[in-house]
Amino acid sequence: MTTFTEIYQQLDWHQLIIQINSKSAKDIEKAICSDRPSLQDFMALISPDAYPYLEVITQKAQKLTRQRFGNTVGLYVPLYLSNLCANDCVYCGFSMNNQIKRKVLNEKEIIAECEAIRSIGYNNILLVTGEHPGKVGMKYFRQYIPLIKKYFSSLLMEIQPLAITEYKELKKIGLDGVLVYQETYHQPTYQQQHLRGKKQDFFWRLETPDRLGQAGIDKIGLGALIGLSNN
Ligand code: SF4
Repeated sequence: MTTFTEIYQQLDWHQLIIQINSKSAKDIEKAICSDRPSLQDFMALISPDAYPYLEVITQKAQKLTRQRFGNTVGLYVPLYLSNLCANDCVYCGFSMNNQIKRKVLNEKEIIAECEAIRSIGYNNILLVTGEHPGKVGMKYFRQYIPLIKKYFSSLLMEIQPLAITEYKELKKIGLDGVLVYQETYHQPTYQQQHLRGKKQDFFWRLETPDRLGQAGIDKIGLGALIGLSNN
């Protein structure tokens, strides 16, 4: 099996930038017409010269989305279990060095939140925490996931990256999917944005989808929230 890290380490960031910037109108038109777009086609679609084609690209994306998913919109509600965090990310209000009131929901508070969310008709829940394995870690998840799952048919989590065995254990007690945001895939930018804590480990985070796949987690959501690069 090839891991995200192995693929990442084969890539030359500066070469990729040169390749993307050299895509022509012909490359972009070929990419738009392709039924099975390649990596080269993807580079053409995100190249600077693709800007005038934005409307055509949007229409094609919409058509493919409708083919794949139909006319559906999935809604879920985030339930914040805790704002404790042992990381220092420069863009986040939960960062460990921010002097804010910290809170971890207890059983009674979790039940009240779940009942309120169900009463307005939501059946999909996203559990969100800061990243504090000491106080909001496996012990906490073991205790409360079965309780929360009783209220919802789908349970996603956005928490600190875990080990394969931990994901497997959570799957058994109700976990359906995990969202993990890499924030950026540009390592120098990543290091500038993450100053303290486990989140500084770029590759531990990058390999989270590998571990999720190996644990058999059905839904895996990824994101580059700061963008691919600030260079
Ligand atoms: S790990 Fe997440 S919650 Fe914690 S400071 Fe960083 S972005 Fe915020």
